[in-house]
Amino acid sequence: NKRLEKFSRSIELQRRASQEIPESTSSNYRGSGSYAPYPMVFMESGSGAELTDVDGNNYIDFHAGVSAIINGHSPSRQIEAVKQQIDNGPYFATSYEKEHEAAHLLNEMVPSSDLAKFISTGTEAIMSAIRLARAYTGKEKVLKFEGMYHGHTDYALVNVHPGAEDLGTRRNPTKIPETTGIPQETMETVESAPWNDIDLLEEKLEREGDDIAAVMTEAVMSNSGLLWPENGYLDELRRLTNEHDVLFILDEVVTGFRMGLQGAQGYFDIDPDLTVFGKAMANGYPCAALCGREEVMRFLESGSDKSTFMGTFSGNPLVVAAAHANLELLHEVGEQGYKKLYDRGERLTAGLKEILADAGHDVFVPKFAGFFAVHFLDGGGDPAAWREYRDIGPNTDPDAYSRFAAAMMGEGIFLPPKTGRINLMHAHTDEHIDEALEAAKVAADHV
Ligand code: PMP
Repeated sequence: NKRLEKFSRSIELQRRASQEIPESTSSNYRGSGSYAPYPMVFMESGSGAELTDVDGNNYIDFHAGVSAIINGHSPSRQIEAVKQQIDNGPYFATSYEKEHEAAHLLNEMVPSSDLAKFISTGTEAIMSAIRLARAYTGKEKVLKFEGMYHGHTDYALVNVHPGAEDLGTRRNPTKIPETTGIPQETMETVESAPWNDIDLLEEKLEREGDDIAAVMTEAVMSNSGLLWPENGYLDELRRLTNEHDVLFILDEVVTGFRMGLQGAQGYFDIDPDLTVFGKAMANGYPCAALCGREEVMRFLESGSDKSTFMGTFSGNPLVVAAAHANLELLHEVGEQGYKKLYDRGERLTAGLKEILADAGHDVFVPKFAGFFAVHFLDGGGDPAAWREYRDIGPNTDPDAYSRFAAAMMGEGIFLPPKTGRINLMHAHTDEHIDEALEAAKVAADHV
């Protein structure tokens, strides 16, 4: 109990929150993880890469707002931009100058983006991308991949994190909704396939391509522990979608501005039709973007056969000011800044691997992509051969990771509570990495 004394205010607030809010907090994701024996910590403030909770405990942050923070918490330039907009007023229901300036920055930075629209969340941007793809192609279905999360609309919550044993055959997977409440008719518009298998995709598109409006994917699978694409997979996906008049929707909500200045599409040199950005694009403010090829994006202009795009708060001045300032900051960070971020990330992953192995843990840490995951292995098999969602679950012990994250929390290092993305930010310093590695030496003995 001595360990818990320093969290007394968080414990009290958690008790009160549970009386007011289902799951104690607005996103169930935030409520679902556990840092037991520690409570759900209530954070109060953040500066750079550091956080302070309501009891005055300090942390180095590698959760980074579920990957939403790339330039550290509250960079002064961004705060100033948002404050100025607050002073001017938050919202007037007209177009305004910063909006096209922010779009211009985005379109300049991202080669596949001719035109962009802003919206509040990744979820809504994906939802809009799906509808746009349907409108543009005149086809109804969208193909997604097992283990990928694309936000919480009905159209995306299929085969996100099912039990691998429930998925049926790889050629003809069972469709498992991530939640109750999704209409059967909606489920029928979503197709799912194992990732990283180009032959399967080819077969699927040959068989059903006339009904499929879009293939939607991340370039690295970020929500099931980091999986990298096989060499050439994304290029083949591009070729096949072109061949079958199917749009390629790239979800860069996580990889955008984290994997590199041009996101995953720059890293892999791929050219999707539509891209969705969110999270790090606005460094913690609720602003996302749908962008892409001119001919497709023009379909969002009014007209009888076009696809609509609305929202009182879509591209509202406050968050667009935040996104604009952040994109300017990232421009200054430049390739050099990302190189430093990768150097730090690679040092952290190598150090963690060594420390956990020395403590007797069998772990797999995938290659760093601006973020990484730590898998505690359980089940045999060679993790270097993992290529799809089904390979992960049966071979890992997610509870062991959660115990590690909890122990790190006790040492002042804030990690995601469940196996997920451990993020680097430009605000992390070499000293932060050293401190995280020192903490891991202690935490490794508490897994
Ligand atoms: N796509 C991916 C890959 C994500 O990880 C997320 C959020 N974790 C989303 C889409 C949805 O974004 P948001 O939470 O902003 O709605």
